[in-house]
Amino acid sequence: MKKILIAGGLVIVAVIAIVLVRTPGAGKSQPEPGAPGIALISVNPDETAAHLAQAVRFRTVSTQDPSGFDAAVFTAFQSWLRETYPHFYNAVSSQTIDGFAQLNIWQGSDPSLDPVVFMAHQDVVPASDAPDSGWEKPPFAGIIEDGFIWGRGSIDDKGALIGLLEAADRLAASGYAPKRTLMFAFGHNEEVLGSGAKAIAAHLKSRGIHPYAVIDEGGAITTGMPDAKGPVARIGVAEKGYVTLILTARAKGGHSSTPPTRTAIGALSKAIAAIEAHPFEQKIDPVIAKMLRATATEQPYMGRMAVSNLWLFGPLVTAKMQKSQAGRAMLGTTIAPTIIKAGFKENALPREASAFVNFRIHARDSVQGVIDHVKATINDPAIEIKIAGTEGTEPSPVSQVGTGPYAWISSMVADVFPGTLIAPNVVLGGTDSRYFALVTDDIYRFAPFTFDASDFSRIHGLNERMGVADFAHGVQAYYLMLERAGTLEK
Ligand SMILES: [Zn+2]
Repeated sequence: MKKILIAGGLVIVAVIAIVLVRTPGAGKSQPEPGAPGIALISVNPDETAAHLAQAVRFRTVSTQDPSGFDAAVFTAFQSWLRETYPHFYNAVSSQTIDGFAQLNIWQGSDPSLDPVVFMAHQDVVPASDAPDSGWEKPPFAGIIEDGFIWGRGSIDDKGALIGLLEAADRLAASGYAPKRTLMFAFGHNEEVLGSGAKAIAAHLKSRGIHPYAVIDEGGAITTGMPDAKGPVARIGVAEKGYVTLILTARAKGGHSSTPPTRTAIGALSKAIAAIEAHPFEQKIDPVIAKMLRATATEQPYMGRMAVSNLWLFGPLVTAKMQKSQAGRAMLGTTIAPTIIKAGFKENALPREASAFVNFRIHARDSVQGVIDHVKATINDPAIEIKIAGTEGTEPSPVSQVGTGPYAWISSMVADVFPGTLIAPNVVLGGTDSRYFALVTDDIYRFAPFTFDASDFSRIHGLNERMGVADFAHGVQAYYLMLERAGTLEK
């Protein structure tokens, strides 16, 4: 009898545990697809997953060394796209730019309406096939298991690329004819240079085209975030700038037994330490304020009160955000020494020491502003400062929040993912869309897929994977987005 009671007790505990874990808010909570009254297209998740898995198998890898670019793989991948999405490729005029970037134009019937540009990149970052690489499934095998499509690129960015094409192909097959022109810009080297996207943007500029909006990667629907456990659509309305500076200190070389008072390594070290000791301004800007307010309902009472009254609690909220690396990155320009080079022998003084310092530039700063700040901080004219590569990238313009294309994206989110909060966001990394600042101020970085915070490290990391159901749901979202984009009035 006692044993039966103990066993019964254990079962009840197990049931409660399962119930708690599965309760929305405790684990990954998912809204039911489709707001009442909104008809979403039916999508077979196995079919769309199979296509994404096939796309993953093409090793369209971008390597830092341009000689590693495998043109044959990109050619094969593009022929596969044409075979797999025939309705789409029949509906658009397709042109190749910069070798392998693709611009597809689905001409609208009303030429007075500015086009909407949808972007995704074809390339992926490298991943190792080695058995001890840490991948649970080989990164280019395109395996579908445990409800996920596994592999490099399944999220970044073949998720968006294939998701868009799945939706657009179905839309074209339905006989849809857009009023507003839809463009699809598929860069081929986002992970290294982005020269493909850059060339497409320049091409649009030369034709005098000013897109109504540009939609690219860089935002998604998140769950399990510190500011909100439930789903939040994070729409990237700004992107930080980028510059890497090379600092070089020179000094007399010679034997280490008779060193001078100023050594190259010593001077360089002081310079780096000075830069780190003088960080850039950290402050809540209007986009971050809107982001905080958008998720305020998810906060406990005190947090809600604080973010609703930033005029009073701004410094407190700033201090709290500064406790996390991502928080600090949102608040200002960041400083990251990434490479240091000096010396060749333990008893010889190097004549030169150099360091690479990478800066991600907040909208309130600029490339020149960063250089000026670094110069003034180091305050040592003997240290040479120059930009690595050809140029830096200025921070992007800030897109409209709440109005214009933002409102159009928000209505899609509300209809396809009811119960999801919508928050503007600042994208901390770089995307191909930065080049389109040349032709429009309204760039939105958002792909309609759902990820849990615990999965973020898989992007560019090990075991990248996309949920089969999330992917199909994203295709439904893209379909609605494309359909509405094509009929958007002024
Ligand atoms: Zn990407």
